[in-house]
Amino acid sequence: MNNPVTVAHREIGSVLADFDRALTEAEAELSYLRDSPEDMATELEHSASLMRWLYDGGWTRHGWSAEVGGSGGSALVRCQILERLALRGYPIPNHLLVLEVVGPAVAKHAPDLAARVLPAALRGEELWSQGFSEPEAGSDLAALRTVAAPDADGTFTVNGQKIWTSYGWRADRMVLLARTGSVTDRHRGLVMLLVDLDAPGVQTRPIALASGRQELAEVFFTDVRVPADRVIGAVGAGWAVAMDLLQYERGSYAWMRMATASSNLARIVTAVADGPQNGAEAVLGSAYLGLAALRARTATTLRRLDAAEVVGAETSIDKLLLSTAEQDVLDAAAQLMAGDFLFGDHSEARRWRDDWWYSRAASIYGGAREIQHGIVADRLLSLPREGGR
Ligand SMILES: Cc1cc2nc3c(=O)[nH]c(=O)nc-3n(C[C@H](O)[C@H](O)[C@H](O)COP(=O)(O)OP(=O)(O)OC[C@H]3O[C@@H](n4cnc5c(N)ncnc54)[C@H](O)[C@@H]3O)c2cc1C
Repeated sequence: MNNPVTVAHREIGSVLADFDRALTEAEAELSYLRDSPEDMATELEHSASLMRWLYDGGWTRHGWSAEVGGSGGSALVRCQILERLALRGYPIPNHLLVLEVVGPAVAKHAPDLAARVLPAALRGEELWSQGFSEPEAGSDLAALRTVAAPDADGTFTVNGQKIWTSYGWRADRMVLLARTGSVTDRHRGLVMLLVDLDAPGVQTRPIALASGRQELAEVFFTDVRVPADRVIGAVGAGWAVAMDLLQYERGSYAWMRMATASSNLARIVTAVADGPQNGAEAVLGSAYLGLAALRARTATTLRRLDAAEVVGAETSIDKLLLSTAEQDVLDAAAQLMAGDFLFGDHSEARRWRDDWWYSRAASIYGGAREIQHGIVADRLLSLPREGGR
């Protein structure tokens, strides 16, 4: 008799083999997408093209329900496909870096809304963004001040500001966390909304990264009207939806970044193979070990999410492993390809520098390193609080 686990494993293996084959056959059509465009607009066009190819082939439809444009099954298959994509030298589409975080929460907490809006996002026709952080509410997210005031008919009027929004000034929609009550309510009285960023009253201002790439934005809301059918979850339950959503930042998002870092490490190994330097083995070996730990750890988190388990404070360890691994790999590039890394005037060298700068943010975005250390100390190790509190 066939063991169902073995059968499932064989089926996944055959999907992955089909994907490898399809990617090889599309080499001529897709290879230009491996290049790193200098400007953000072209990068996002490339991202949309790759999204479309991945969708049309059915590759990114794995793990999403038919109602939202998917083909069902497990998200684990999709993750493995994306890892293979990265290892073949393609960037993970920018669109997916947000959608893999916010999309599952929309599908779970607002299925009717998701059926209307998610298919276009999965096809790459829309770029989404995540509007949580505010100038005085980053690590302390419950201090957010953006207000969504409900009218008698359930329409919300949104006023406030978000900051550090990835792709915020190019995005079509934002999954926005706002409050219906007073700031002193902290995590109570919050609501999650899907907001169209072309609505009257929305203004965006780009923020340049240290590399010069204009990827982040400030987003301002002045009397922006949001219909009642854009609520994700229930009014007042925004905090629970936000916490649910953040699990995917530790699951699929971390996995995609791990895949990109693994691809980067492979490129460094190839680049230094011809002229090995003293100490290269130690630098590369250490980066490899960090990535292997991250891969194993994130796979566990993905499996738990796939089994509908709630992943908790332990994922702070995942986040610490992610920031360290990402920075170690890019530090290896800086150290081992020193001349080209610093002075190279071609797109490859520019990409290494951009990626190095971005890796510095890995210990900030999605929860700063110090905050993760605090969670590990308090909630996993139950250490005494600092200052004896
Ligand atoms: C590249 C990038 C992309 C981002 N994309 C998005 C996005 O798409 N959407 C979104 O909503 N946000 C996004 N963010 C924002 C990100 O989530 C916040 O930057 C992060 O949560 C930290 O908040 P903060 O910047 O306000 O820093 P703060 O919270 O002000 O922290 C500043 C420093 O103080 C330390 N600190 C703060 N509180 C404590 C404490 N209690 N104990 C010890 N140390 C503490 C922090 O660790 C940090 O080192 C992005 C950030 C970056 C860098």
